[in-house]
Amino acid sequence: MNRVRCLVFNAAIGPLDYRVPDGVVVEYGSVVTVPLGPRQLTGIVWEEERLPTDPVPAEKLRPIAAVLPIPPLRAQLRRLIEWTADYYCAPLTAVARMTLASGGALKGPATMTEYRLSGGMPERMTPQRERAMERLEGEQATIRELADMAGVSDGVLRGLVAQGVLEPVEVDCDRPYPPADADFAQPELSDDQRKVADQFTAAVEARRFAPFLLDGVTGSGKTETYFEPLAAALRAGRQVLVLLPEIALTTAFLRRFEDRFGAAPLVWHSSLKSTERRRAWRAIAEGPEKSGAQVVVGARSALFLPYANLGLIVVDEAHEVSFKQDDGVRYNARDVAVMRARFESIPVILASATPALESLQMAESGVYERVELPSRFGGATLPDIATIDLTEHKPDRGRWLAPKLAEELQVRLDRGEQSLLFLNRRGYAPLTLCRNCGHRFQCANCSAWLVEHRLSSRLACHHCGHEEPPPALCPECGEPDCMVACGPGVERIADEVRDILPKARVALVTSDTLNSPDKAAAFIAEAEAGAIDVIVGTQLVTKGFHFPELTLVGVVDADLGLEGGDLRAAERTYQQVAQVAGRAGRGAKPGEVYIQTRHPTAPVIAALANGDRDAFYEAETEARRDAGAPPFGRWAAIIVSSEDEAEAKQAANRIGGTRPDHPDIAILGPAPAPMAMLRGRYRYRLLINARRSAELQNVIRDWLGALTFPNGVRVGVDIDPYSF
Ligand code: ADP
Ligand code: ZN
Repeated sequence: MNRVRCLVFNAAIGPLDYRVPDGVVVEYGSVVTVPLGPRQLTGIVWEEERLPTDPVPAEKLRPIAAVLPIPPLRAQLRRLIEWTADYYCAPLTAVARMTLASGGALKGPATMTEYRLSGGMPERMTPQRERAMERLEGEQATIRELADMAGVSDGVLRGLVAQGVLEPVEVDCDRPYPPADADFAQPELSDDQRKVADQFTAAVEARRFAPFLLDGVTGSGKTETYFEPLAAALRAGRQVLVLLPEIALTTAFLRRFEDRFGAAPLVWHSSLKSTERRRAWRAIAEGPEKSGAQVVVGARSALFLPYANLGLIVVDEAHEVSFKQDDGVRYNARDVAVMRARFESIPVILASATPALESLQMAESGVYERVELPSRFGGATLPDIATIDLTEHKPDRGRWLAPKLAEELQVRLDRGEQSLLFLNRRGYAPLTLCRNCGHRFQCANCSAWLVEHRLSSRLACHHCGHEEPPPALCPECGEPDCMVACGPGVERIADEVRDILPKARVALVTSDTLNSPDKAAAFIAEAEAGAIDVIVGTQLVTKGFHFPELTLVGVVDADLGLEGGDLRAAERTYQQVAQVAGRAGRGAKPGEVYIQTRHPTAPVIAALANGDRDAFYEAETEARRDAGAPPFGRWAAIIVSSEDEAEAKQAANRIGGTRPDHPDIAILGPAPAPMAMLRGRYRYRLLINARRSAELQNVIRDWLGALTFPNGVRVGVDIDPYSF
C-alpha cells in the first residue's frame, strides 16, 4: 500500500489519508504515528471503504511518521470495534481507544523503569518527603504512579531519586508468562457436569460460533464445567477470556484456577500499573506461543484486547449489572462478548444461576443454546427460604434485625456455624441529619446525600467519591455535635450484631474494607478457617464465595431495590437475593435463608420464598411485555450534561424540539435526569421507547447528527440503559 486511510485519535476530526513512505510496510490494523498540523497523533490503518471521507489528492498527502512495533489489530477486532460504535451510537475513536488502552505506553521500548524505596534517608527531611516515604513502603511503580499513590508531586519524588532514597528497577515488559497446564489436576465431574462440559468442549474443538447460556443453580459447579472447554482451548494453543463482574471476586477465582491449571492466568483491569498493562497487552497481542498469554481473567474492558488467537469466551455471573458500562462508551459487556465470539467464530458461555430475562429470551428463541445444571454439586441441597414480615415482627427501637433473625444468629453461633447478613448499603447510615434544624448533609457535586462512614470518620458521596470530615458544627444552624444517623448501612448492622452477640467474630465486607487482592485473600482464608462467625456485607458477598460452614443467610432489607421507578428493579432484587441465598448450605449442612420485608406478598418476594423461579420470570415477562420493555421493545436514553445548568437545559430542549416523528418510536422528556447533578454537571435526559423493528440507532444518529452544541455540553447515548 502506498496510501492509507487512518482512524486518528482525535474525536473532533474524521479519518485522514496518509502516504506510506518507500520501504515502510503497513497493513490494515497497523498502529501508526501520523502528523496533524504540528502534532503527532496515534492512528490505526483502516479499510478505506469502511471509513468514507473525501479523498485527498496524492500530492497533498503527508507521510506516516512511524509504524509502532506491535502486531496489527486483526480484522475480527476491527469489526468488533465498528459494531460496538455502531450499535451503541459511540464515536469509532472512543471505542478503538478502549483497545489501545495503554495509549502512549505502547510506543516505548520493551523495558520500563520503576522505582522503589532503597532504605536510604534523604539529607533533609520535609513533611512531604516523610509522607511519601511512609506511603510508598513496599510499593514499586513509575514516578507518575508513585506520585499518585503518595499524593505528592512528581518533583518531590524526583528529589528523592536524586538523593538515592528511591532506586530505579528495570522492568522487562516482554518477559513471558508461565504456561498453564491443561491436565495439571483433573477433577472427577458429575454426570450432569460431564454432559455439559462435553458439549462446550465439542464447540471449542469445532471452532464455530456457539453462544451458550449455562443456567445452573448456585453451587452446581458451573466453574468446573467451563474449565473443561478452557482446557481444550489450551491444548489447541488458543487463548481464553474469562470475564468476571467484580475484581474483588478474582482472588477466589485465581486460586481455583491455579489449583486446576498449575499457573496463574493474566489479570486485566483498569487499575493495573503501566508496566503490567504494557506487558499484558503486548503478550496478548503476540499470542500464547511467544508470550505464554493464554488465559485472561478480566473486567469488561478485557473484551477489547488484541487477542492473537482467541478460542473461547466465558462470562461468569453473566446477569451482573456491573457488566454494563455507564459512562464514556455505554456498552453491555455481556452483549459485546457474544458479538466478539461471533466475529472470532468461537463459542461463548454465559454462566448464571439467575440469567437476565433478555438472555433467557434469546435461549427461548433458539439464538442461544441453553444448558442446565439443575442441582447442587456433591449432594448439597438448596437452602430453605422464609420471609420475615417487618410490619408484624418489628425490630426493637434503633435496631434493624427482627427478633427471629437475631435468635437464628445466636443458634448458629452456638453450633459453631457461620452466618451472613446482606444489606446493599455501604457506610453507617444512608442519610445524616442535624438533630436541631433537620439540615440534610448533601454532596456539593451531585444530587445525592452524603453517607456517613464511621470506620473512616468521613462523610462520603457514593457517586463522585467526594469525602469530607464530619463537621464539628451544623453548617446550617451552628449546633455542635449535631449529626443524627438515619437508617442502616452495613457498618451499623455490624455494630448491632456485635451488640446482640458480643462473643461473635464479625467481618464487615464491602468495597471499603475489601479494597485490595491481599485483603480479599485474607478474608477468604479467615472465613474458611472458621475464624469468622458473622459476615456482614454488601453485594460484594452475594456471589463467588464458597464457605461450607455457612448455614444462615439474612437479607436485612429485601425491599431496598424495589423502591424507585427502575424498570429492572424486580429482576435485580430477585437476582441479588437468590445469589446471596445461594451462599447458604453449600457444604454438608443444609442452609436457611430469612428475608426481611414489608411486602411479603409482592410477586418477587413470594417467588423467592417459594423457590419458584419460573413464577418470577413469567410475571416479569408479562410486566415487560406490557411496558414495551426489553426484550419485547427497546429503550434508549439521551443524556445531556453541562457544568452550566441553563446551557444543559437549552441543549436538551433543542434536542427535544427536533425530535423525529416516527410511528414506532415514542420519546419522553427532556426532563432532569434522576441524578440531576453528577460530578458537578447538570444533567437532562430524554427517554426513547421503540418497537423492536424500529431502526433505533439510525434514527438517533440522524437526529443528533444534525445538531451542534456548545463546547461545554456533552451529549451521550445509552442504548439498552440499565438505570433510568
Ligand atoms: P457455582 O459457580 O455453580 O455456584 P462452583 O463452581 O463454585 O458452583 O462449585 C461449587 C463447589 O463445588 C465448589 O467448591 C467446587 O470446588 C465444588 N465442585 C464443583 N464441581 C466439582 C467436582 N467435579 N469435583 C470436586 N468439587 C467440585
Ligand atoms: Zn458527589
